[in-house]
Amino acid sequence: MKDCIFCKIVAGDIPSYTIYEDDVVKAFLDISQGTPGHTLVIPKKHVPNIFEYDPELAGEVFSRIPKIARAVKASNPDIQGMNIVNNNGQIAYQSVFHSHFHLVPRYTDHDDFS
Ligand code: ADP
Repeated sequence: MKDCIFCKIVAGDIPSYTIYEDDVVKAFLDISQGTPGHTLVIPKKHVPNIFEYDPELAGEVFSRIPKIARAVKASNPDIQGMNIVNNNGQIAYQSVFHSHFHLVPRYTDHDDFS
């Protein structure tokens, strides 16, 4: 979608640090790291928010999250847990209107993220 920053990342028009990619999703580091390893998982297809998902695509996206979460966790032995957050709508703090899931690793020594 024109003017969508995450569509531009999918297209390779804006650089990103890719963690995982296949035909359905792309996972890349958030430009503003809530904690080290903060990763976004997005569908490659433009979907604005959870309310707009085709159920089949939602299943395909969700089914990939455990594997990506394991890869992020495996990248750093200090990761002890992970928040998975999905904001929908401006009132719910969504600022990029291409659906994405935040994977926020948790560490005992980076516990200031909320
Ligand atoms: P919020 O800004 O409240 O976290 P969202 O849930 O919509 O709202 O999250 C959008 C996320 O996209 C933010 O964490 C932001 O840092 C991230 N972001 C914006 N632009 C880029 C970019 N070019 N590359 C990586 N992450 C980005």
